[in-house]
Amino acid sequence: MPFSVTLAGTERRFPVDDGETVLEAARRAGLALPYSCLGGRCGSCKATIVDGECHYPRQPALALDAAERAHHDALLCQAVPRSDLTIAAREVPSVADFPRRQLALKVVAREIVAPDVVRVLLKPPRGERLRWLAGQYLDVLLPEGKRRAFSIANAPEEGDHVELHIRQVPGGGFTHWVFTEMPVGAVWRIEGPLGTFVPREDSERPIVMVAGGTGFAPLKAIVEHFLHLRSARPLHVFRGVRDESELYLADLPAQWARRHPALFVETVLSEPKGDEAARHATGFVHEAVLRNFPDLSPFDIYMSGPPALIEAGRRAFVAAGLPADRLYYDSFEYAPDVLAAILRARAGIGA
Ligand SMILES: Cc1cc2nc3c(=O)[nH]c(=O)nc-3n(C[C@H](O)[C@H](O)[C@H](O)COP(=O)(O)OP(=O)(O)OC[C@H]3O[C@@H](n4cnc5c(N)ncnc54)[C@H](O)[C@@H]3O)c2cc1C
Repeated sequence: MPFSVTLAGTERRFPVDDGETVLEAARRAGLALPYSCLGGRCGSCKATIVDGECHYPRQPALALDAAERAHHDALLCQAVPRSDLTIAAREVPSVADFPRRQLALKVVAREIVAPDVVRVLLKPPRGERLRWLAGQYLDVLLPEGKRRAFSIANAPEEGDHVELHIRQVPGGGFTHWVFTEMPVGAVWRIEGPLGTFVPREDSERPIVMVAGGTGFAPLKAIVEHFLHLRSARPLHVFRGVRDESELYLADLPAQWARRHPALFVETVLSEPKGDEAARHATGFVHEAVLRNFPDLSPFDIYMSGPPALIEAGRRAFVAAGLPADRLYYDSFEYAPDVLAAILRARAGIGA
């Protein structure tokens, strides 16, 4: 029997089909609720169940800790209702105007910009256009229904091309192919735009941005969008890499700073080589944020990169006074099929 979900404090209500997740049903109904990894890992889709009951028949709700479960928090990307539900969740209205679609994009340029990062430029066919909001990502569609997520690294105002920064993951099938073999001229089938990691333009608060590795990609798009808007909101960009060799597009921040009255960039090296520590801050990038701003209560924070950074940053920033609803992030998680395989392997079940 289908259930219905009501968004607390609003008139919004939508039906959920048998076996469907709350997030899938919300999307079908045209409601844009926050999400990122779609695998139950990153916690972007966390909401509170005010009334009713749900369960997790697909993937376990790994991003919920005991306190959050006791508080009746749920992960909407995995939660399947067992009854009618009332949930407390925040909509991201701006993304609702950008419906996702499938499109063929052609690789028009590729450049190795760091030992394990390749910058790829893609173009839609003549007369077609992908529309997106700064910070969103796309899925590359692969055989057997597999998909791999990559953030769009350029602001939408910049023309019709799409820029991606792709890190070669050790043992990773798709990224290894892109890094070593993919020719210019290859055609990728993609779906996008996806995700809700987008600028909140209704805020006037100063912004802290925190990037780990290729987590720089969506933040680059968001910075360029703010530059396009001629925003004067203070922008503090903290960019974490292991050492200088990973610092691709290194001249860009200085170019940004010339176009913005209050934009500051700090590079933070976690494994500095030689005399690199004399030129940059060192340590973990989220710790550098706290060194600069021990009280984060006045800020909005945008953060993207590997799951370990997101997890550490989330806890540390909220403990330093950042209101939880002022933290926006994209966590570069395993693709859902990979996560499912890992969980099956852990449980000792064959593929
Ligand atoms: C919203 C979002 C945005 C992202 N944006 C970016 C971006 O802009 N740039 C970027 O570089 N990355 C980004 N990522 C991460 C990117 O999607 C992954 O790096 C990519 O999916 C890896 O694909 P792959 O096919 O190369 O690796 P996969 O083949 O998916 O393998 C990934 C890893 O899992 C391991 N693995 C695979 N199967 C198993 C198993 N059964 N058991 C144990 N381990 C296993 C592999 O050895 C490897 O280490 C993003 C992720 C998300 C969710």
